[in-house]
Amino acid sequence: MEQEVIRISNIKCKPNDGLDLIEKKIRKALNLGKEDIKYEILKRSIDSRHKPEIIYLYSVIVLSVKGKSFKDILKRTRDKNVTLSKKIIYQLDTSTKGREISEEERPVIIGFGPAGIFAALNLSRMGLRPIVYERGLEISKRQEKVNGFWSGEKLDLNCNVQFGEGGAGTFSDGKLNSSIHESTGRISYVLNTFVEHGANPEILYVNKPHIGTDVLAKVIVSIREEIKANGGEIHFASKLEAINLKANPSGEKEIDSLEIKDLTTGKIFTKTARKVILAIGHSARDTFEMLDKLGIMMTAKPFAVGVRVEHKQELINRNAYGAALDNPNYKLPTADYKVTYKTHASGEERGVYSFCMCPGGYVVNASSEEGELAVNGMSYSSRAGENANSAIIVTVTPKDFGENVLDGMKFQRKLEAAAYREGEGKIPVQTFGDFDKGVKSTSLGKVSPNTKGDYKLSNLREVLPEFITSSLTEGIHGFDKFIKGYDNEETLLLGVESRTSSPVKILRNDDYYSINIKGLLPCGEGAGYAGGITSAAVDGMKACEAIAKGFIN
Ligand code: FAD
Repeated sequence: MEQEVIRISNIKCKPNDGLDLIEKKIRKALNLGKEDIKYEILKRSIDSRHKPEIIYLYSVIVLSVKGKSFKDILKRTRDKNVTLSKKIIYQLDTSTKGREISEEERPVIIGFGPAGIFAALNLSRMGLRPIVYERGLEISKRQEKVNGFWSGEKLDLNCNVQFGEGGAGTFSDGKLNSSIHESTGRISYVLNTFVEHGANPEILYVNKPHIGTDVLAKVIVSIREEIKANGGEIHFASKLEAINLKANPSGEKEIDSLEIKDLTTGKIFTKTARKVILAIGHSARDTFEMLDKLGIMMTAKPFAVGVRVEHKQELINRNAYGAALDNPNYKLPTADYKVTYKTHASGEERGVYSFCMCPGGYVVNASSEEGELAVNGMSYSSRAGENANSAIIVTVTPKDFGENVLDGMKFQRKLEAAAYREGEGKIPVQTFGDFDKGVKSTSLGKVSPNTKGDYKLSNLREVLPEFITSSLTEGIHGFDKFIKGYDNEETLLLGVESRTSSPVKILRNDDYYSINIKGLLPCGEGAGYAGGITSAAVDGMKACEAIAKGFIN
């Protein structure tokens, strides 16, 4: 749905200005007096190019002005920042509500990460009573498991940082920005759903919204309750073990039923299903193996590997805000960064770049397989941790690890096994100074590792191949051009960052169904169609729309 609005860009405020100033500026730009106006903030970005001056730049949309038409208002303004625009509102077709739906027709969703959650939420809002099977546990029990693992307890192969309610992002920074282009309002729908379920409305307009692991966990529980209230079912500790196929009259393979293992009893039961959304994330390696054996069409895809880098957050804040940091009136957000650098040290050009940066966060042991170790980043909504961390990674392609479907996954496993060995089960940590020299770290500088899970001083050159370590070294030195102090000797590297995106793509048609199995909808990050919480959620919405087509008259 489209709504005509007036857009005003480039509204400049200071960080300590109240939101009431925005309304004053809107009235001025539109030559308005005291008329009732309805407006929304569309975007807020921070301009720190003229430090110590920091400017908050707002874009707003005016939805209505009582007693005045937009045409008349626009006639009376010459402000080039004022334009007629359109607000796109995503509309879920709920005409299916109240329709009879047999047990066999109920859509099944495997995985309750962002993709599975948004597919389930919308199917439930449409009255289609989805059934979700998730191998991990519900959030409160999952938090106990993960905290136990970080304190030294045994890894649970089905309930960990990658698996369980909320998916891979539950123990994350909860960044909600996305680089996907979406013209139908689905991104706003996702963010609005987060707000409806308890997130701070600021996420609707700040440039890079984030909610932190603490708020995200509460939001997910609240969405789960809505799905259940709408007639959906969510089964935790329930793992998809196998898919039974049959040939339809045209000789095509289609889903007959699913074999689901109840992980609390160890018993496997068969669930007849016609439409199955496969939203299993990028770490379900055993499930990828099962799908490959079954002949579901997949290809190996590029991803990226490297390390997590930690600095004092103060260094990153200082770089972003300069002396403005010392202004007691400014409450500036904990600063983030994004850096990229072209390197040649490996003998060919390779981009090295930051990814999933977590201001004021922790580096977490995000492993999901025995004898292997992977790291990632997490922060709370306050982003108050002492260190900034970010993945610093290099893209790897089938040329680097092999052309077979599961070769990328095997490459990840190899790196993670090396990281586990090097850290003796703990997160291997090395100062950049020692990494540069190629020696094992035996002491730390001013930066202390801020980790969830134990760490051990190590040599990450024992973990990563030379073409990656040489690219990382050149890249990290290169980043110093943008952030002074980035390549300090005491900067920390933690490894291994290997779960940046899926190592496979499960091929699907434009209608969102698998290209060779009828009824199967590969979806989200694991299938290779999303990268991050918001884009995975959007992909879940699209899978829901594809299923709903069969129900809408
Ligand atoms: P997932 O979230 O991975 O969910 C898949 C679910 O399927 C899992 O819960 C899994 O248990 C379940 N599953 C797998 N196999 C089976 C099976 N056989 N049977 C039943 N269930 C199964 N992204 C951001 O945008 N912002 C961030 O700040 C951010 N930080 C991150 C921090 C960490 C520590 C991690 C690990 C990831 C982070 N990401 C972040 C990435 C983000 O979490 C993923 O992009 C997103 O979760 C992908 O969503 P998904 O639904 O496709 O898959």
